Amino acid sequence: MGQPTRLVIFGRQGAGKGTQCQRLVERYGVVHISTGDMLRAERAADTELGRKAGEIMDAGGLVGDDIMIPIARHRISEPDVVASGFVLDGFPRTVDQAEGLFDALGEDPLHAVIDLDVPLDEVTTRMKARGRTDDTDEAIAQRLDLYEQETRPVLDWFDERGLLVTVDGLGTEVEVTERLVSAVDSILDEHPAQPGL
Ligand code: AMP
Repeated sequence: MGQPTRLVIFGRQGAGKGTQCQRLVERYGVVHISTGDMLRAERAADTELGRKAGEIMDAGGLVGDDIMIPIARHRISEPDVVASGFVLDGFPRTVDQAEGLFDALGEDPLHAVIDLDVPLDEVTTRMKARGRTDDTDEAIAQRLDLYEQETRPVLDWFDERGLLVTVDGLGTEVEVTERLVSAVDSILDEHPAQPGL
């Protein structure tokens, strides 16, 4: 194995991030870190955090940075993640979270931030079809709205730092995976992670 690969995958909810993350895990040996999955696990275990986050998730809101930043920082500091690298899915969602992530990574910065680009009408159709309990029409609309308002600036923030690569998320799973892998491979070949980026 070479150096651990550190990626963030972005995209509207419903863009297929979860599926493509599994492909990135297989290809690069990274650990998939989904903050949404972590919160759903807390909820299933009926912890205090799970109950608190669950209400916000149902309303389509964002769980506070004061909660999310420590959760993500803790996970990326665990030995399996340090050794194998990661693909972060669902984090960061705000500029404060992005700054918290950079701060935590220090000398081991990100290689790339991928925006898996799927148009708004297509993700709305996909989310309505998946039938998750937190996927009410109101929650879907609220999350997509929040994505534009709060998360779009995070994409711009990464773009300004030269880390953003946009991948077309339309097409079959295999087609999208091929595009992703070729984008990540060329970044790993040409632009090894630079401390301080
Ligand atoms: P996801 O599975 O990534 O779509 O996340 C499901 C829900 O969990 C989101 O709609 C938010 O309510 C919450 N959540 C997950 N990750 C974050 C985060 N980084 N910041 C704030 N809320 C989050």
